[in-house]
Amino acid sequence: MRILVTGGAGFVGSHLVDILVEDGNSVVVYDNLSSGKPHFLQHHLDQGSPVEIVKADLLDLDTLKENMPGIDIVFHLAANPDIRLGTEVTDTDLKQGTIATYNVLEAMRLAGTKKIAFASSSVVYGEASVMPTPEDYGPLFPISLYGASKLAGEGLISAWVGTFSLQAWIFRFANVVGERGTHGVIFDFIHKLKNDPTRLEVLGDGNQAKSYIEVRDCARSMYHLVCTTDAAINYYNLGSGDVCSVRRIAEIVVEESGLPEVSIEYTGGSRGWAGDVPQASLAVDRMKDSGITPTFDSEGSIRHTARALIEEIGLHD
Ligand code: NAD
Repeated sequence: MRILVTGGAGFVGSHLVDILVEDGNSVVVYDNLSSGKPHFLQHHLDQGSPVEIVKADLLDLDTLKENMPGIDIVFHLAANPDIRLGTEVTDTDLKQGTIATYNVLEAMRLAGTKKIAFASSSVVYGEASVMPTPEDYGPLFPISLYGASKLAGEGLISAWVGTFSLQAWIFRFANVVGERGTHGVIFDFIHKLKNDPTRLEVLGDGNQAKSYIEVRDCARSMYHLVCTTDAAINYYNLGSGDVCSVRRIAEIVVEESGLPEVSIEYTGGSRGWAGDVPQASLAVDRMKDSGITPTFDSEGSIRHTARALIEEIGLHD
């Protein structure tokens, strides 16, 4: 297949590109490199893999239209990755999430590309009253601007399926962690320890607990489900089926850092910031029933990531 990956130079996107190439696909990465890193794809360029990188913005509809003809499926991963940003800048998720998704769908419609896989998020559930939260939970009332843009993206995709006969895969990710991570709680903790090896400040009371998934498990699951499911709209939670608290993450990062005496200090309050969902647990029965067994549980994925990122970031340099 010829596959266009928006956000393919990013954290999840670059692992997805690895998996798509391993299976013999040719890939066009469409990325403005705002948070993506070209070196995440360098091994493909060095090996002469069928990977083409288009450095462009999804808000540039003309360039997107030029790159769509001949594409069999779009994996749409590009978005603003920073949920907290919405507390200060209120139009980022609207533009980088909702409008960008509209542009992808419109370019697909004009080029006759019929399949889209979308990186949505557990945050579409908002503060769910049912936990673990299954895919059919509703009503969906997200509490962050980022969550609103993900739900809007799902709505637009569903409309394009209903109106223009697209086929869609919607993946609601748990928190994704792993090698090449460029943001998120583990990344933040390691940077804080790099700045001050004696003290780790944790936002909130540490009791926030969420589902996690290791990035290759996430990318592998997306590709597996696209290859093996065939409804008009296929929608799956992707997670490892359990939760891990922020308190435990802080402990694991400190353990893995090898730093002798770190005092872990909590800022207090039940949530890290306005719009943060303090308790999120994804039901992943449908994902597992499809034949996927994640390599790591949440705690295992966090320890694996802490080790990898301590190495990548160079905590002791
Ligand atoms: P990331 O920031 O590493 O990847 C996003 C990529 O999109 C980057 O390469 C960035 O340069 C690119 N991009 C952003 N805006 C763009 C634009 N306007 N035009 C072209 N390229 C643009 O983030 P990630 O963690 O890899 O996230 C990938 C997707 O998964 C995102 O849609 C994110 O919302 C979703 N998601 C991630 C997590 C997580 O924990 N990482 C959880 C739930 C959902």
